[in-house]
Parts: sequence; structure tokens; C-alpha cells
Amino acid sequence: MQCELCGNESSKCRPADVDGARMMLCPDCMKHGRGIKEATVTVTTNTQRSILTRIRRPKEKDVYEGMDRELVSNWGDLIRTARKKKGLSRGQLGFNIGERTITIAKIENGDLRPPDKIAEKLEKNLAISLFEEVKKVSTSSGGSHPNSLTLGDFIKTEDK
Ligand SMILES: [Zn+2]
Repeated sequence: MQCELCGNESSKCRPADVDGARMMLCPDCMKHGRGIKEATVTVTTNTQRSILTRIRRPKEKDVYEGMDRELVSNWGDLIRTARKKKGLSRGQLGFNIGERTITIAKIENGDLRPPDKIAEKLEKNLAISLFEEVKKVSTSSGGSHPNSLTLGDFIKTEDK
């Protein structure tokens, strides 16, 4: 079994709560999380909470619409592969880019979409590309709006 935080093989991995994320941790990483005792988990409130936290936010595609660079969908695999090629642990990689190990783990597991800033640091550090070029496609079927005001028009109007 693989520890979901540091990625080391360990047969003694146990479930733990790390920053609200449920992960299998090796004994070394247990200190980063709160151990979950399966037997004492109360069914009602805890289950509801974990369902809520497990709902993944939809991909924020709409926000990036119109941009010509988009995060690749398999960022986790790319990062993990590149990191292993360099012989770095998640902790070391996190240290290199100034992020916590848990952040690296969540990103590699696909639980966290890396914000642009972190993604760019990962790109530089691992010499990989996490963004793909996306062709700008005009979605408006009605064509352009020739009568729409430009910033210049607004300025002119205010001058009058
Ligand atoms: Zn570990």
C-alpha cells in the first residue's frame, strides 16, 4: 500500500484526516493528520460532513473561457511522474516551491486543482508543461457587435 501523503510504500498505512481530506498515511506521516478510528465515527453528523467535503467542485472551465492557456486535465499524473524522475519526495518538492507536502499530495491525487501560481512553480521546478494551448473559439453565433462601445468611446463621451 502506498502512503497518500509522502508516497512511500508501507504496509502499515492507516486512514487519517489531513486538513479535512481523508488519506491513507504511513506511520511517519501520521503526525500530519488525525487518525480516524472507524469504530467511533458517529454515523449521522460525520457522514453528512464527509459527503459534503467529498463533493468535488466542478472544473472551473467557465472562469478561464477566452484564455488561451488551460490547465491539463491529468496534472496529477504529470507532476507525480516528473517528480519521481527527479527523485524527489513530495516533501522535497513542496519545500522547493514553498508549499506544504499535503498540498503536493492533494494536487497529485487530483483532489486539488493547482492554482496558477503553484502550477507555474511546479512547471519551472519539474521542467514540465501543465498548461495546454486552447484555441480561442468564438462562441457567439450572432457574430461580433460592431456597435459596442470601446473604452475609447467611453472616454470621449466623458469629455463632452
Ligand atoms: Zn507517508
